[in-house]
Amino acid sequence: MGKIRLLDYQTTNKIAAGEVITNPASVIKELLENSIDAKSNRIIIEIKKGGKEKILIKDNGVGISADDVLLAFKRHATSKIHSIEDLEYATTLGFRGEALASIASISKIDIKTREKNAKSGIHVKIHGGKVILHEEIGCTKGTSLTVEDIFYNTPARYKYLKKDSIESGYISSIVEKIALSHPEISFRFINEGRQVFHTPGNNDLYSCIYCLYGKKFADDLIEIQYENHPLKIFGYIGKPQLCRSNKKYQIFFVNHRYVKNRILSQALQEAYKGLIMIHKYPVCILNIQVPSSMLDVNVHPAKTEILFRHESLIYLLIKEAIREILKEKKLIPEVNLNS
Ligand code: ADP
Ligand code: MG
Repeated sequence: MGKIRLLDYQTTNKIAAGEVITNPASVIKELLENSIDAKSNRIIIEIKKGGKEKILIKDNGVGISADDVLLAFKRHATSKIHSIEDLEYATTLGFRGEALASIASISKIDIKTREKNAKSGIHVKIHGGKVILHEEIGCTKGTSLTVEDIFYNTPARYKYLKKDSIESGYISSIVEKIALSHPEISFRFINEGRQVFHTPGNNDLYSCIYCLYGKKFADDLIEIQYENHPLKIFGYIGKPQLCRSNKKYQIFFVNHRYVKNRILSQALQEAYKGLIMIHKYPVCILNIQVPSSMLDVNVHPAKTEILFRHESLIYLLIKEAIREILKEKKLIPEVNLNS
């Protein structure tokens, strides 16, 4: 008899979950992206024990219809794209249809959701991928999703989670970035019942930065607005004195998505050449808009890594944009003007 067999659906889901869901912060990132894609303008995030015991995300977005709610937890089920061609133009943060299925397979989920015009809402509980409750309820418009006991059925994965304070730190960092990428949405972050921050949601990036990082940080920022086809840049860069000994405050968004990209960080560093000491790193919170045809975001399931097509053009334009504003603000000394 042959030895090869097809794995069952539950097992393949748990394996797939390993790619996107690595810790509570990655669960929160996926859930927040869903809330943003659902056009919410108010989102509450609550965690307990570094997100290991409980995560709650409550939004006031479009909600999920009664017909769709179970389907949403199936792998490769998405309302955001229909075919591979749509990927090229995907403007939503999600599109793989994997997050809810993955999260549901390794935790205990409780979801209450209602579409705006629906008579009633739906309440579903899924434990380790199995639906254990499915009922109609009265609830407010939007979606409220609780994730409890992450990795309770995959002890080998649970073992790799860090202590609560470290996991909370990861969560805080990702929630901050998502809040900065959407200043038009009000984010309230609560850890162990205590409010950590509450962004105003008034569509003003500066007040969002102020709210997260404080007055002293915000005072040392310079606004940047730059347009040079095909690139548009909007955001803030730090005065040289705001530079840090790590890259924690080098925050880049490309088409509203928080990204990590070597080219962007190198362009920033190069623009400050001669202005800051060795082993110091400039600070920035920059939104970069490029035509989606110049990007490939589908490099990794978590989607924070991106590849630019025409990398060197992007590098040059970003460097030039930053140099230009530093010169304008007379932060680049005269002698360096032609360097
Ligand atoms: P993806 O975001 O890649 O489509 P997910 O597994 O994250 O995949 O979500 C599956 C589907 O569930 C989404 O396409 C969307 O239709 C629906 N959905 C998930 N979260 C929400 C939410 N907070 N509000 C409204 N719809 C949601
Ligand atoms: Mg999603």
